Amino acid sequence: MSEASRRRRTRALPLLVAALVLAGGATFALTRSDGDDPVSPEPTAEPLKTSDDEPAVALPKKAYLRDACRLPPKWVKRIHRGWAPGGIRDYDLVIVPAPPNYMGTFVNTSHSAPYDFLQKVPLIFYGEGFVEPAGRVQLDREPTIADLAPTYAELMGFGGFPERTATALTEVLKDTEETPKLIVTAVIDGGGWNALEEWPDAWPRIAGLIDEGANVEEAIVGSSPSITPATHTNLSTGTFPRYHGVTAIAVRADDGSIVGSFAEVPGNPGPAVMDPRVTMTKTTIADLWDRANDNEPLVGMLAAGNLQLGMIGHGAALEGGDKDIAAILSRGEWATNPELYSLPEYVNTDVAGPEGDVEAIDRADGEADGKWKGHAVEPLDGSPAFAPWENRTMFAIMEREGFGADDVTDLFYVNYKAPDKAGHTWNMVAPEQEDVIRSVDDAIAELVDWLDANVGGEEYVLVVTADHGQTPLGGWAISRSEISGDLGRQFDGVENGKGVIGRTSASSFFSNPDEMEANGVTPEDVSSFLSRYTIGDNIPEGAEIPEGFENRLDERIFDAVFPGRKLPKIVACTNALAEG
Ligand SMILES: [Zn+2]
Repeated sequence: MSEASRRRRTRALPLLVAALVLAGGATFALTRSDGDDPVSPEPTAEPLKTSDDEPAVALPKKAYLRDACRLPPKWVKRIHRGWAPGGIRDYDLVIVPAPPNYMGTFVNTSHSAPYDFLQKVPLIFYGEGFVEPAGRVQLDREPTIADLAPTYAELMGFGGFPERTATALTEVLKDTEETPKLIVTAVIDGGGWNALEEWPDAWPRIAGLIDEGANVEEAIVGSSPSITPATHTNLSTGTFPRYHGVTAIAVRADDGSIVGSFAEVPGNPGPAVMDPRVTMTKTTIADLWDRANDNEPLVGMLAAGNLQLGMIGHGAALEGGDKDIAAILSRGEWATNPELYSLPEYVNTDVAGPEGDVEAIDRADGEADGKWKGHAVEPLDGSPAFAPWENRTMFAIMEREGFGADDVTDLFYVNYKAPDKAGHTWNMVAPEQEDVIRSVDDAIAELVDWLDANVGGEEYVLVVTADHGQTPLGGWAISRSEISGDLGRQFDGVENGKGVIGRTSASSFFSNPDEMEANGVTPEDVSSFLSRYTIGDNIPEGAEIPEGFENRLDERIFDAVFPGRKLPKIVACTNALAEG
Protein backbone atom coordinates (compact mmCIF):
# COMPACT_ATOMS: atom_id res chain seq x y z
CA MET A 1 0.00 0.00 0.00
CA SER A 2 2.64 2.50 1.05
CA GLU A 3 4.58 1.69 -2.13
CA ALA A 4 1.62 2.68 -4.26
CA SER A 5 1.00 5.95 -2.48
CA ARG A 6 4.67 6.85 -2.57
CA ARG A 7 4.75 6.36 -6.31
CA ARG A 8 1.66 8.46 -6.69
CA ARG A 9 3.34 11.39 -5.01
CA THR A 10 6.73 11.20 -6.59
CA ARG A 11 5.66 10.43 -10.13
CA ALA A 12 3.18 13.22 -10.69
CA LEU A 13 5.54 15.27 -12.84
CA PRO A 14 4.61 14.11 -16.35
CA LEU A 15 1.03 15.32 -15.93
CA LEU A 16 2.32 18.74 -14.92
CA VAL A 17 4.51 18.81 -17.99
CA ALA A 18 1.51 17.89 -20.12
CA ALA A 19 -0.49 20.70 -18.59
CA LEU A 20 2.27 23.15 -19.44
CA VAL A 21 2.29 22.04 -23.04
CA LEU A 22 -1.44 22.56 -23.34
CA ALA A 23 -1.26 25.97 -21.73
CA GLY A 24 1.73 27.33 -23.58
CA GLY A 25 1.82 25.35 -26.79
CA ALA A 26 5.55 24.77 -26.19
CA THR A 27 7.23 21.50 -27.04
CA PHE A 28 9.27 19.21 -24.82
CA ALA A 29 11.18 16.05 -25.37
CA LEU A 30 9.31 12.88 -24.41
CA THR A 31 9.47 12.79 -20.65
CA ARG A 32 8.25 9.29 -19.84
CA SER A 33 10.45 6.27 -19.91
CA ASP A 34 12.37 6.43 -23.18
CA GLY A 35 13.05 9.75 -24.86
CA ASP A 36 15.32 8.50 -27.59
CA ASP A 37 13.73 5.15 -28.32
CA PRO A 38 16.28 2.81 -26.86
CA VAL A 39 15.90 -0.73 -28.04
CA SER A 40 13.24 -2.43 -25.99
CA PRO A 41 13.20 -6.02 -27.14
CA GLU A 42 10.52 -8.26 -25.74
CA PRO A 43 12.11 -10.42 -23.07
CA THR A 44 12.26 -14.09 -23.96
CA ALA A 45 12.06 -15.07 -20.33
CA GLU A 46 11.25 -13.32 -17.10
CA PRO A 47 13.11 -14.06 -13.86
CA LEU A 48 11.18 -16.36 -11.59
CA LYS A 49 10.15 -14.89 -8.28
CA THR A 50 11.88 -16.96 -5.65
CA SER A 51 10.42 -15.17 -2.64
CA ASP A 52 6.85 -16.37 -3.32
CA ASP A 53 5.36 -19.00 -1.08
CA GLU A 54 5.06 -21.66 -3.76
CA PRO A 55 7.87 -23.01 -5.92
CA ALA A 56 7.54 -21.56 -9.43
CA VAL A 57 7.56 -24.78 -11.39
CA ALA A 58 4.98 -26.88 -9.54
CA LEU A 59 1.37 -25.76 -9.78
CA PRO A 60 0.63 -23.23 -7.04
CA LYS A 61 -1.52 -24.23 -4.05
CA LYS A 62 -3.94 -21.35 -4.35
CA ALA A 63 -6.87 -22.34 -6.57
CA TYR A 64 -7.09 -19.01 -8.42
CA LEU A 65 -3.39 -19.21 -9.32
CA ARG A 66 -3.78 -22.82 -10.47
CA ASP A 67 -6.60 -21.63 -12.76
CA ALA A 68 -4.36 -18.93 -14.20
CA CYS A 69 -1.52 -21.42 -14.69
CA ARG A 70 -3.84 -23.49 -16.88
CA LEU A 71 -4.43 -20.62 -19.33
CA PRO A 72 -3.07 -21.30 -22.82
CA PRO A 73 0.50 -19.92 -22.95
CA LYS A 74 -0.29 -17.82 -26.04
CA TRP A 75 -3.06 -16.04 -24.12
CA VAL A 76 -0.66 -15.25 -21.29
CA LYS A 77 1.90 -13.95 -23.78
CA ARG A 78 -0.71 -11.58 -25.26
CA ILE A 79 -1.81 -10.45 -21.78
CA HIS A 80 1.83 -9.87 -20.79
CA ARG A 81 2.38 -7.71 -23.88
CA GLY A 82 -0.74 -5.70 -23.05
CA TRP A 83 -0.01 -5.08 -19.37
CA ALA A 84 2.06 -2.10 -18.18
CA PRO A 85 3.44 -3.29 -14.83
CA GLY A 86 4.51 -1.53 -11.69
CA GLY A 87 3.15 0.94 -9.17
CA ILE A 88 -0.56 0.85 -8.50
CA ARG A 89 -0.97 -1.42 -11.53
CA ASP A 90 0.34 -4.27 -9.35
CA TYR A 91 -2.92 -4.05 -7.40
CA ASP A 92 -5.20 -3.98 -10.45
CA LEU A 93 -6.73 -7.26 -11.60
CA VAL A 94 -6.26 -9.14 -14.85
CA ILE A 95 -9.65 -10.58 -15.85
CA VAL A 96 -10.00 -13.44 -18.34
CA PRO A 97 -13.65 -14.34 -19.00
CA ALA A 98 -14.23 -17.97 -20.02
CA PRO A 99 -15.03 -17.58 -23.73
CA PRO A 100 -17.57 -17.04 -25.16
CA ASN A 101 -18.51 -15.11 -21.98
CA TYR A 102 -17.87 -11.38 -22.17
CA MET A 103 -18.60 -8.19 -20.25
CA GLY A 104 -21.66 -6.50 -21.71
CA THR A 105 -25.31 -7.16 -22.46
CA PHE A 106 -27.09 -9.79 -24.54
CA VAL A 107 -26.69 -7.55 -27.62
CA ASN A 108 -23.74 -5.29 -26.92
CA THR A 109 -20.73 -7.54 -26.53
CA SER A 110 -17.17 -6.49 -25.72
CA HIS A 111 -14.08 -7.63 -27.60
CA SER A 112 -11.10 -7.18 -25.28
CA ALA A 113 -9.39 -10.51 -24.75
CA PRO A 114 -6.53 -12.81 -25.81
CA TYR A 115 -8.67 -15.39 -27.66
CA ASP A 116 -7.83 -16.23 -31.27
CA PHE A 117 -11.25 -15.17 -32.55
CA LEU A 118 -10.62 -11.61 -31.34
CA GLN A 119 -6.94 -11.55 -32.22
CA LYS A 120 -6.89 -12.79 -35.83
CA VAL A 121 -7.08 -10.00 -38.39
CA PRO A 122 -6.46 -9.44 -42.08
CA LEU A 123 -3.02 -8.04 -42.88
CA ILE A 124 -3.29 -7.26 -46.58
CA PHE A 125 -0.65 -5.53 -48.70
CA TYR A 126 -1.49 -4.16 -52.12
CA GLY A 127 0.55 -2.08 -54.58
CA GLU A 128 1.93 -3.26 -57.93
CA GLY A 129 5.24 -1.48 -57.53
CA PHE A 130 6.14 -2.81 -54.09
CA VAL A 131 4.11 -5.86 -53.08
CA GLU A 132 4.75 -9.40 -54.31
CA PRO A 133 1.50 -10.78 -55.75
CA ALA A 134 1.89 -13.73 -53.43
CA GLY A 135 -1.70 -14.24 -52.31
CA ARG A 136 -2.03 -15.95 -48.95
CA VAL A 137 1.42 -16.02 -47.36
CA GLN A 138 2.30 -18.34 -44.44
CA LEU A 139 5.29 -17.32 -42.35
CA ASP A 140 7.24 -19.54 -40.01
CA ARG A 141 6.91 -16.94 -37.26
CA GLU A 142 4.00 -15.21 -35.59
CA PRO A 143 3.06 -12.06 -37.53
CA THR A 144 1.31 -9.21 -35.72
CA ILE A 145 0.05 -5.83 -36.85
CA ALA A 146 2.99 -4.29 -34.95
CA ASP A 147 5.10 -5.57 -37.84
CA LEU A 148 3.66 -2.78 -40.00
CA ALA A 149 5.91 -0.06 -38.55
CA PRO A 150 9.25 -1.75 -39.39
CA THR A 151 7.77 -2.89 -42.72
CA TYR A 152 7.02 0.73 -43.63
CA ALA A 153 10.57 1.68 -42.61
CA GLU A 154 11.82 -1.00 -44.99
CA LEU A 155 9.55 0.24 -47.82
CA MET A 156 10.70 3.83 -47.35
CA GLY A 157 14.36 2.92 -46.99
CA PHE A 158 14.32 4.55 -43.55
CA GLY A 159 17.21 3.46 -41.37
CA GLY A 160 16.15 5.67 -38.47
CA PHE A 161 13.42 3.43 -37.11
CA PRO A 162 14.70 1.82 -33.92
CA GLU A 163 14.80 -1.91 -33.35
CA ARG A 164 11.68 -2.85 -31.42
CA THR A 165 9.65 -5.99 -30.75
CA ALA A 166 8.19 -6.29 -34.25
CA THR A 167 9.85 -7.58 -37.42
CA ALA A 168 9.56 -6.21 -40.99
CA LEU A 169 7.40 -8.37 -43.26
CA THR A 170 9.95 -8.40 -46.06
CA GLU A 171 8.46 -11.69 -47.32
CA VAL A 172 5.64 -9.79 -49.06
CA LEU A 173 7.77 -6.95 -50.47
CA LYS A 174 9.32 -6.75 -53.92
CA ASP A 175 13.06 -6.32 -54.08
CA THR A 176 13.32 -2.74 -55.36
CA GLU A 177 15.30 0.44 -54.72
CA GLU A 178 12.22 2.56 -55.42
CA THR A 179 10.20 3.99 -52.54
CA PRO A 180 6.43 4.59 -52.53
CA LYS A 181 5.07 8.13 -52.83
CA LEU A 182 2.28 7.26 -50.44
CA ILE A 183 1.41 4.50 -47.98
CA VAL A 184 -2.25 4.35 -46.96
CA THR A 185 -3.25 2.24 -43.97
CA ALA A 186 -6.95 1.34 -43.83
CA VAL A 187 -8.00 -0.14 -40.50
CA ILE A 188 -11.43 -1.79 -40.39
CA ASP A 189 -12.58 -1.24 -36.82
CA GLY A 190 -13.87 -4.59 -35.57
CA GLY A 191 -12.99 -6.10 -38.96
CA GLY A 192 -11.16 -9.15 -37.60
CA TRP A 193 -11.49 -12.41 -39.52
CA ASN A 194 -14.38 -13.75 -37.47
CA ALA A 195 -16.56 -10.74 -38.35
CA LEU A 196 -15.59 -10.90 -42.04
CA GLU A 197 -16.09 -14.67 -42.24
CA GLU A 198 -19.55 -14.33 -40.71
CA TRP A 199 -20.51 -12.44 -43.91
CA PRO A 200 -18.29 -14.04 -46.58
CA ASP A 201 -20.06 -12.50 -49.59
CA ALA A 202 -19.88 -8.92 -48.30
CA TRP A 203 -16.23 -8.13 -49.15
CA PRO A 204 -15.41 -9.24 -52.72
CA ARG A 205 -13.04 -6.32 -53.37
CA ILE A 206 -11.04 -6.92 -50.20
CA ALA A 207 -10.73 -10.57 -51.30
CA GLY A 208 -9.54 -9.28 -54.69
CA LEU A 209 -6.74 -7.30 -53.01
CA ILE A 210 -5.50 -10.55 -51.45
CA ASP A 211 -5.49 -12.25 -54.87
CA GLU A 212 -3.58 -9.39 -56.54
CA GLY A 213 -1.44 -8.56 -53.50
CA ALA A 214 -0.71 -10.52 -50.36
CA ASN A 215 -2.29 -11.37 -47.04
CA VAL A 216 -0.04 -12.38 -44.17
CA GLU A 217 -1.91 -15.41 -42.85
CA GLU A 218 -2.44 -16.02 -39.12
CA ALA A 219 -1.69 -12.37 -38.34
CA ILE A 220 -2.92 -11.23 -34.95
CA VAL A 221 -3.19 -7.88 -33.20
CA GLY A 222 -0.68 -9.34 -30.79
CA SER A 223 -1.71 -8.02 -27.37
CA SER A 224 -4.62 -8.23 -24.97
CA PRO A 225 -6.90 -6.36 -24.42
CA SER A 226 -7.71 -6.34 -28.13
CA ILE A 227 -9.10 -2.85 -28.03
CA THR A 228 -9.01 0.09 -30.43
CA PRO A 229 -6.49 2.53 -28.86
CA ALA A 230 -4.03 -0.18 -27.84
CA THR A 231 -3.90 -2.06 -31.12
CA HIS A 232 -3.85 1.06 -33.33
CA THR A 233 -0.76 2.09 -31.37
CA ASN A 234 0.78 -1.37 -31.90
CA LEU A 235 0.70 -0.94 -35.67
CA SER A 236 2.39 2.46 -35.61
CA THR A 237 5.03 1.94 -32.92
CA GLY A 238 6.15 -1.57 -33.80
CA THR A 239 5.66 -2.74 -30.24
CA PHE A 240 3.01 -3.53 -27.63
CA PRO A 241 1.19 -1.68 -24.82
CA ARG A 242 3.61 -2.98 -22.18
CA TYR A 243 6.23 -0.84 -23.93
CA HIS A 244 4.23 1.90 -25.76
CA GLY A 245 1.93 2.65 -22.82
CA VAL A 246 -1.51 2.84 -24.49
CA THR A 247 -2.97 -0.18 -22.71
CA ALA A 248 -6.73 0.35 -23.16
CA ILE A 249 -9.48 3.00 -23.26
CA ALA A 250 -8.90 3.68 -19.54
CA VAL A 251 -5.18 3.94 -18.78
CA ARG A 252 -3.26 4.34 -15.52
CA ALA A 253 -1.13 7.48 -15.82
CA ASP A 254 2.22 7.60 -14.05
CA ASP A 255 0.65 9.21 -10.99
CA GLY A 256 -1.82 6.31 -10.66
CA SER A 257 -4.81 8.33 -11.82
CA ILE A 258 -7.07 6.88 -14.53
CA VAL A 259 -7.12 8.85 -17.78
CA GLY A 260 -8.36 8.15 -21.29
CA SER A 261 -6.00 6.76 -23.88
CA PHE A 262 -5.85 10.13 -25.65
CA ALA A 263 -8.20 12.31 -23.59
CA GLU A 264 -8.42 13.25 -19.94
CA VAL A 265 -11.65 11.27 -19.55
CA PRO A 266 -11.75 7.60 -20.64
CA GLY A 267 -14.11 7.04 -23.53
CA ASN A 268 -14.30 10.72 -24.50
CA PRO A 269 -14.95 10.51 -28.23
CA GLY A 270 -14.11 14.10 -29.12
CA PRO A 271 -10.84 15.53 -30.37
CA ALA A 272 -8.10 14.68 -27.91
CA VAL A 273 -7.64 17.35 -25.28
CA MET A 274 -4.66 15.67 -23.64
CA ASP A 275 -1.01 15.57 -24.54
CA PRO A 276 -0.47 12.07 -25.97
CA ARG A 277 2.75 11.71 -23.98
CA VAL A 278 0.69 11.18 -20.82
CA THR A 279 0.01 7.66 -22.08
CA MET A 280 2.03 7.04 -25.26
CA THR A 281 5.72 6.60 -24.42
CA LYS A 282 6.97 5.43 -27.80
CA THR A 283 7.32 7.38 -31.01
CA THR A 284 5.57 6.13 -34.14
CA ILE A 285 6.95 5.44 -37.59
CA ALA A 286 5.20 8.63 -38.76
CA ASP A 287 6.70 10.68 -35.90
CA LEU A 288 10.23 9.56 -36.73
CA TRP A 289 10.03 9.55 -40.53
CA ASP A 290 8.50 13.02 -40.55
CA ARG A 291 11.08 14.51 -38.18
CA ALA A 292 14.02 12.85 -39.92
CA ASN A 293 12.96 14.60 -43.14
CA ASP A 294 12.42 18.06 -41.65
CA ASN A 295 8.66 17.47 -41.57
CA GLU A 296 8.50 17.41 -45.34
CA PRO A 297 6.50 14.14 -45.49
CA LEU A 298 2.75 14.62 -45.20
CA VAL A 299 1.15 12.68 -42.35
CA GLY A 300 -2.59 12.45 -41.84
CA MET A 301 -5.36 10.43 -40.27
CA LEU A 302 -9.12 10.29 -40.23
CA ALA A 303 -11.18 8.50 -37.58
CA ALA A 304 -14.52 8.57 -35.81
CA GLY A 305 -12.96 9.48 -32.46
CA ASN A 306 -9.67 10.03 -30.67
CA LEU A 307 -9.08 6.37 -29.76
CA GLN A 308 -7.19 5.82 -33.02
CA LEU A 309 -4.79 8.73 -32.55
CA GLY A 310 -1.90 6.36 -31.87
CA MET A 311 -1.91 5.57 -35.62
CA ILE A 312 -0.11 8.80 -36.43
CA GLY A 313 1.48 9.71 -33.11
CA HIS A 314 2.51 12.80 -31.20
CA GLY A 315 2.14 15.60 -33.75
CA ALA A 316 3.70 18.80 -32.45
CA ALA A 317 4.09 17.36 -28.93
CA LEU A 318 7.23 15.66 -30.16
CA GLU A 319 10.31 17.86 -30.06
CA GLY A 320 11.05 18.66 -33.69
CA GLY A 321 7.63 17.40 -34.77
CA ASP A 322 4.91 19.33 -36.56
CA LYS A 323 1.12 19.52 -36.55
CA ASP A 324 0.13 16.49 -38.59
CA ILE A 325 -3.41 16.33 -39.92
CA ALA A 326 -5.82 14.58 -37.53
CA ALA A 327 -9.48 14.59 -38.59
CA ILE A 328 -11.55 13.31 -35.67
CA LEU A 329 -15.34 13.16 -35.85
CA SER A 330 -16.87 15.10 -32.98
CA ARG A 331 -20.54 16.08 -32.63
CA GLY A 332 -21.28 15.57 -36.30
CA GLU A 333 -18.29 17.36 -37.77
CA TRP A 334 -14.57 16.91 -38.21
CA ALA A 335 -12.45 18.40 -35.45
CA THR A 336 -8.93 18.26 -34.05
CA ASN A 337 -6.79 19.33 -31.11
CA PRO A 338 -5.20 22.43 -32.69
CA GLU A 339 -2.45 22.62 -30.05
CA LEU A 340 -0.83 19.49 -31.45
CA TYR A 341 -2.47 18.61 -34.78
CA SER A 342 -4.06 20.42 -37.69
CA LEU A 343 -7.24 20.17 -39.72
CA PRO A 344 -8.02 22.04 -42.94
CA GLU A 345 -11.25 24.03 -42.70
CA TYR A 346 -12.57 22.81 -46.04
CA VAL A 347 -13.39 19.36 -44.64
CA ASN A 348 -16.39 20.92 -42.92
CA THR A 349 -17.24 23.60 -45.49
CA ASP A 350 -16.52 22.20 -48.96
CA VAL A 351 -16.99 18.45 -48.51
CA ALA A 352 -20.57 17.17 -48.71
CA GLY A 353 -21.79 15.78 -45.37
CA PRO A 354 -23.48 12.40 -44.91
CA GLU A 355 -27.06 13.46 -45.80
CA GLY A 356 -26.87 12.08 -49.35
CA ASP A 357 -25.44 8.78 -48.08
CA VAL A 358 -28.20 8.48 -45.49
CA GLU A 359 -30.81 9.03 -48.21
CA ALA A 360 -29.16 6.44 -50.44
CA ILE A 361 -29.18 3.83 -47.65
CA ASP A 362 -32.80 4.63 -46.97
CA ARG A 363 -33.76 4.21 -50.66
CA ALA A 364 -31.64 1.08 -51.15
CA ASP A 365 -34.14 -1.15 -49.34
CA GLY A 366 -36.98 -0.25 -51.71
CA GLU A 367 -38.74 2.81 -50.37
CA ALA A 368 -37.76 6.21 -49.08
CA ASP A 369 -39.35 5.82 -45.65
CA GLY A 370 -36.49 7.28 -43.62
CA LYS A 371 -35.54 3.80 -42.49
CA TRP A 372 -32.81 1.20 -42.93
CA LYS A 373 -33.75 -2.36 -41.98
CA GLY A 374 -36.77 -1.00 -40.14
CA HIS A 375 -35.01 1.65 -38.07
CA ALA A 376 -33.40 5.03 -38.56
CA VAL A 377 -29.97 5.19 -40.24
CA GLU A 378 -28.22 5.60 -36.93
CA PRO A 379 -25.93 5.62 -35.20
CA LEU A 380 -24.48 7.22 -38.31
CA ASP A 381 -20.99 5.91 -37.58
CA GLY A 382 -22.40 2.39 -37.25
CA SER A 383 -24.24 2.52 -40.57
CA PRO A 384 -23.36 2.03 -44.24
CA ALA A 385 -23.64 5.82 -44.65
CA PHE A 386 -20.45 6.48 -42.72
CA ALA A 387 -17.66 5.02 -44.88
CA PRO A 388 -18.61 7.02 -48.02
CA TRP A 389 -18.43 10.25 -46.01
CA GLU A 390 -15.09 9.23 -44.52
CA ASN A 391 -13.81 8.57 -48.05
CA ARG A 392 -14.94 11.92 -49.44
CA THR A 393 -13.27 13.73 -46.57
CA MET A 394 -10.06 11.71 -46.85
CA PHE A 395 -9.87 12.21 -50.64
CA ALA A 396 -10.35 15.97 -50.22
CA ILE A 397 -7.49 16.11 -47.72
CA MET A 398 -5.14 13.94 -49.76
CA GLU A 399 -5.88 15.79 -53.00
CA ARG A 400 -5.67 19.36 -51.70
CA GLU A 401 -2.66 18.78 -49.45
CA GLY A 402 -0.81 16.86 -52.15
CA PHE A 403 -0.44 13.42 -50.56
CA GLY A 404 1.59 11.23 -52.89
CA ALA A 405 2.50 14.18 -55.12
CA ASP A 406 6.30 14.07 -54.67
CA ASP A 407 8.99 11.45 -54.07
CA VAL A 408 9.12 11.77 -50.28
CA THR A 409 6.85 9.05 -48.89
CA ASP A 410 3.67 10.40 -47.29
CA LEU A 411 1.59 8.45 -44.78
CA PHE A 412 -2.20 8.46 -44.43
CA TYR A 413 -4.17 6.38 -41.92
CA VAL A 414 -7.94 5.88 -42.06
CA ASN A 415 -10.11 3.99 -39.58
CA TYR A 416 -13.42 2.64 -40.95
CA LYS A 417 -15.43 2.66 -37.74
CA ALA A 418 -18.83 1.35 -38.81
CA PRO A 419 -18.35 -2.45 -38.39
CA ASP A 420 -17.31 -2.06 -34.73
CA LYS A 421 -20.13 0.34 -33.95
CA ALA A 422 -22.70 -1.86 -35.73
CA GLY A 423 -21.38 -4.84 -33.77
CA HIS A 424 -21.93 -3.03 -30.48
CA THR A 425 -25.37 -1.82 -31.53
CA TRP A 426 -26.82 -4.97 -33.16
CA ASN A 427 -24.11 -7.64 -32.77
CA MET A 428 -21.88 -9.06 -35.51
CA VAL A 429 -24.41 -11.77 -36.38
CA ALA A 430 -27.17 -9.24 -37.19
CA PRO A 431 -27.92 -8.46 -40.87
CA GLU A 432 -27.03 -4.79 -40.32
CA GLN A 433 -23.43 -5.95 -40.07
CA GLU A 434 -23.50 -7.40 -43.58
CA ASP A 435 -24.57 -4.04 -45.07
CA VAL A 436 -21.93 -2.25 -43.05
CA ILE A 437 -19.09 -4.57 -44.07
CA ARG A 438 -20.19 -4.23 -47.70
CA SER A 439 -20.07 -0.43 -47.37
CA VAL A 440 -16.46 -0.67 -46.19
CA ASP A 441 -15.63 -3.04 -49.03
CA ASP A 442 -17.08 -0.46 -51.46
CA ALA A 443 -15.08 2.28 -49.77
CA ILE A 444 -11.83 0.34 -50.07
CA ALA A 445 -12.51 -0.31 -53.78
CA GLU A 446 -13.10 3.42 -54.21
CA LEU A 447 -9.86 4.13 -52.35
CA VAL A 448 -7.91 1.89 -54.75
CA ASP A 449 -9.47 3.74 -57.71
CA TRP A 450 -8.54 7.08 -56.16
CA LEU A 451 -4.95 5.98 -55.59
CA ASP A 452 -4.59 4.60 -59.12
CA ALA A 453 -5.93 7.85 -60.61
CA ASN A 454 -4.16 10.33 -58.34
CA VAL A 455 -0.89 8.71 -57.30
CA GLY A 456 -0.35 6.10 -60.02
CA GLY A 457 -0.71 2.32 -59.93
CA GLU A 458 2.97 1.61 -59.30
CA GLU A 459 3.61 4.44 -56.85
CA TYR A 460 1.74 3.55 -53.67
CA VAL A 461 1.15 0.83 -51.08
CA LEU A 462 -2.25 0.17 -49.52
CA VAL A 463 -2.49 -1.88 -46.33
CA VAL A 464 -5.85 -3.20 -45.09
CA THR A 465 -6.04 -4.56 -41.57
CA ALA A 466 -8.19 -4.49 -38.42
CA ASP A 467 -7.84 -3.71 -34.74
CA HIS A 468 -9.76 -6.72 -33.36
CA GLY A 469 -12.50 -9.22 -34.12
CA GLN A 470 -15.94 -9.23 -32.51
CA THR A 471 -17.81 -11.40 -30.00
CA PRO A 472 -20.86 -13.24 -31.30
CA LEU A 473 -23.87 -13.91 -29.05
CA GLY A 474 -24.05 -17.15 -27.10
CA GLY A 475 -21.94 -16.58 -24.02
CA TRP A 476 -22.92 -15.20 -20.64
CA ALA A 477 -23.20 -11.40 -20.72
CA ILE A 478 -21.29 -10.57 -17.55
CA SER A 479 -22.86 -7.75 -15.57
CA ARG A 480 -20.14 -5.51 -14.22
CA SER A 481 -22.56 -3.60 -11.98
CA GLU A 482 -23.67 -6.85 -10.30
CA ILE A 483 -20.03 -7.79 -9.73
CA SER A 484 -19.33 -4.38 -8.21
CA GLY A 485 -22.34 -4.81 -5.92
CA ASP A 486 -21.23 -8.30 -4.88
CA LEU A 487 -17.67 -7.13 -4.21
CA GLY A 488 -19.02 -4.35 -2.03
CA ARG A 489 -21.17 -6.78 -0.05
CA GLN A 490 -18.32 -9.29 0.28
CA PHE A 491 -15.37 -7.06 1.08
CA ASP A 492 -16.26 -3.46 1.81
CA GLY A 493 -17.40 -2.59 5.33
CA VAL A 494 -16.05 0.96 5.26
CA GLU A 495 -18.86 3.37 4.46
CA ASN A 496 -17.23 6.07 2.39
CA GLY A 497 -18.76 5.69 -1.06
CA LYS A 498 -15.54 4.15 -2.34
CA GLY A 499 -15.25 0.53 -3.45
CA VAL A 500 -12.30 -1.87 -3.27
CA ILE A 501 -12.54 -1.80 -7.07
CA GLY A 502 -12.66 1.75 -8.41
CA ARG A 503 -13.42 1.05 -12.04
CA THR A 504 -14.19 -2.00 -14.14
CA SER A 505 -13.46 -2.75 -17.78
CA ALA A 506 -13.84 -5.77 -20.04
CA SER A 507 -10.37 -7.11 -19.30
CA SER A 508 -9.13 -5.47 -16.12
CA PHE A 509 -10.43 -4.10 -12.84
CA PHE A 510 -8.82 -0.98 -11.39
CA SER A 511 -8.26 -1.39 -7.66
CA ASN A 512 -8.40 1.14 -4.85
CA PRO A 513 -5.42 -0.02 -2.75
CA ASP A 514 -6.27 2.41 0.07
CA GLU A 515 -9.80 1.06 0.31
CA MET A 516 -8.51 -2.51 0.23
CA GLU A 517 -6.14 -1.71 3.09
CA ALA A 518 -8.88 -0.02 5.08
CA ASN A 519 -10.91 -3.23 4.80
CA GLY A 520 -7.98 -5.58 5.41
CA VAL A 521 -8.40 -7.05 1.93
CA THR A 522 -5.76 -7.84 -0.68
CA PRO A 523 -6.07 -8.00 -4.49
CA GLU A 524 -5.37 -11.72 -4.05
CA ASP A 525 -8.52 -12.08 -1.89
CA VAL A 526 -10.63 -10.34 -4.53
CA SER A 527 -9.10 -12.49 -7.29
CA SER A 528 -9.82 -15.65 -5.36
CA PHE A 529 -13.45 -14.60 -4.87
CA LEU A 530 -13.94 -13.74 -8.54
CA SER A 531 -12.29 -16.96 -9.71
CA ARG A 532 -15.12 -18.89 -8.07
CA TYR A 533 -17.81 -16.44 -9.18
CA THR A 534 -20.64 -18.14 -11.11
CA ILE A 535 -23.41 -17.25 -13.55
CA GLY A 536 -25.86 -17.65 -10.67
CA ASP A 537 -23.87 -15.18 -8.56
CA ASN A 538 -24.01 -12.67 -11.41
CA ILE A 539 -27.82 -12.62 -11.59
CA PRO A 540 -29.18 -9.78 -9.45
CA GLU A 541 -31.37 -10.74 -6.47
CA GLY A 542 -34.93 -11.42 -7.66
CA ALA A 543 -34.10 -11.06 -11.37
CA GLU A 544 -35.29 -13.63 -13.89
CA ILE A 545 -32.82 -16.22 -15.16
CA PRO A 546 -32.13 -15.51 -18.86
CA GLU A 547 -33.38 -18.22 -21.22
CA GLY A 548 -30.91 -21.01 -21.86
CA PHE A 549 -28.98 -20.47 -18.62
CA GLU A 550 -31.39 -22.26 -16.24
CA ASN A 551 -29.08 -25.27 -15.89
CA ARG A 552 -25.83 -23.35 -16.00
CA LEU A 553 -26.05 -21.35 -12.78
CA ASP A 554 -23.07 -23.10 -11.16
CA GLU A 555 -20.77 -22.47 -14.11
CA ARG A 556 -17.81 -20.22 -13.39
CA ILE A 557 -17.76 -17.04 -15.44
CA PHE A 558 -14.01 -16.50 -15.61
CA ASP A 559 -11.15 -18.71 -16.72
CA ALA A 560 -8.83 -16.71 -14.49
CA VAL A 561 -8.59 -13.60 -12.34
CA PHE A 562 -5.32 -12.53 -10.76
CA PRO A 563 -3.57 -9.36 -9.57
CA GLY A 564 -1.13 -7.63 -11.90
CA ARG A 565 1.69 -8.36 -9.47
CA LYS A 566 1.15 -12.09 -10.01
CA LEU A 567 1.61 -11.83 -13.78
CA PRO A 568 5.35 -12.73 -13.67
CA LYS A 569 4.39 -15.87 -11.79
CA ILE A 570 1.72 -16.79 -14.37
CA VAL A 571 4.18 -16.12 -17.19
CA ALA A 572 6.62 -18.49 -15.46
CA CYS A 573 4.17 -21.33 -14.69
CA THR A 574 2.74 -21.28 -18.23
CA ASN A 575 6.16 -20.81 -19.82
CA ALA A 576 4.39 -18.21 -21.96
CA LEU A 577 7.47 -16.40 -23.25
CA ALA A 578 9.48 -19.49 -24.04
CA GLU A 579 8.98 -19.71 -27.80
CA GLY A 580 10.18 -16.89 -30.00
ZN1 LIG B 1 -15.53 -1.79 -30.10
